[in-house]
Amino acid sequence: MKTALRAADRSGVLEAARIIRNGGLAAFPTETVYGLGADAANETAVGKIYTVKGRPPDNPLILHICDVSQFYGCTEQTPDYCGALISAVWPGPLTVVALKKNSVPAWGTAGLPTIAIRMPSNETARLLIEYAQTPIYAPSANVSGRPSPTSARHVLQDLDGKIDIILDGGPCACGLESTVIDVSGDLPRVLRPGFITADMIYAKIGFYPETEHPLGKPKSPGMKYAHYAPKAELTVINGSPERAAALINERAGVEEKRVGILATDQTIDMYDKSKYFVLNAGDRSNAELIGANLFAALRAFDDKGVDIIYAEGIADAGVGSAVMDRLKKAAGGRVIEV
Ligand code: AMP
Ligand code: MG
Repeated sequence: MKTALRAADRSGVLEAARIIRNGGLAAFPTETVYGLGADAANETAVGKIYTVKGRPPDNPLILHICDVSQFYGCTEQTPDYCGALISAVWPGPLTVVALKKNSVPAWGTAGLPTIAIRMPSNETARLLIEYAQTPIYAPSANVSGRPSPTSARHVLQDLDGKIDIILDGGPCACGLESTVIDVSGDLPRVLRPGFITADMIYAKIGFYPETEHPLGKPKSPGMKYAHYAPKAELTVINGSPERAAALINERAGVEEKRVGILATDQTIDMYDKSKYFVLNAGDRSNAELIGANLFAALRAFDDKGVDIIYAEGIADAGVGSAVMDRLKKAAGGRVIEV
């Protein structure tokens, strides 16, 4: 199959919508990461998402909608705070997991009693869902386990020849996957941290959501898999800029393999760029910026062919919690505190 790369203009979106209606797969930009979309009502098309991504069959998909009535059409017994939350945050980077209606088929939900739903704010994504005249199941448009794609080029790297079309809408604004919040229990629970932080949720509903215990059994099936991982072995070094850079230099100095370093504005001048492949993720105090740059940086290390990567950690608060969640997963738990 030849994959068409099209601009995310009106004719491109119309073509992608036609492909989705005909049971094909279309990758498209969202404000979080690029999504790989199929008609949610088409079992075969949804099955193809799993095949081309190599996605484990027990990992359910996020249903992308363009109208809140589609949320209530698929779910039942949502608590009052849920309405307040989605009217305050949607369209936007928040996925809501709610009890699903029996009428919703099992092929996108991995047989769970719940369904994950999101209304994206990205204009291309919303138009695509509107033109396709059907909700769209869309996980991230990468091969499972690889860093999520934040540009059309990343999608091409992973899925060229395996999907029908990619709409190029430029780099994603957030660059991290959506916050996932489960509203199916007594209390809301954040299953995956993202751009919508616990503080923002508090501001909208008047109380804090629970968060997944880092050592607990994940309630979100996707969170148990190794994720976001570059090919090189990544280690996160957590601590002040000076201490982190000192330890990275110490370790890199005795390393015989090719070393990549994910630095920050605060440390970028502390590394020898003639010896190491150094990328700057941005200002440590700007977690949104670091989040937007993170996945592209992880892919750039792969493109460069480094063998090991040292990445500086940032403060684990607000959007920084989402950044650290992804970094720790990419590191497979290799985190050193200095
Ligand atoms: P992705 O779209 O690739 O970012 O993955 C979607 C994320 O949402 C994965 O971590 C899924 O496990 C999670 N998810 C989807 N549906 C559900 C659900 N019903 N309950 C809990 N987590 C879900
Ligand atoms: Mg994903």
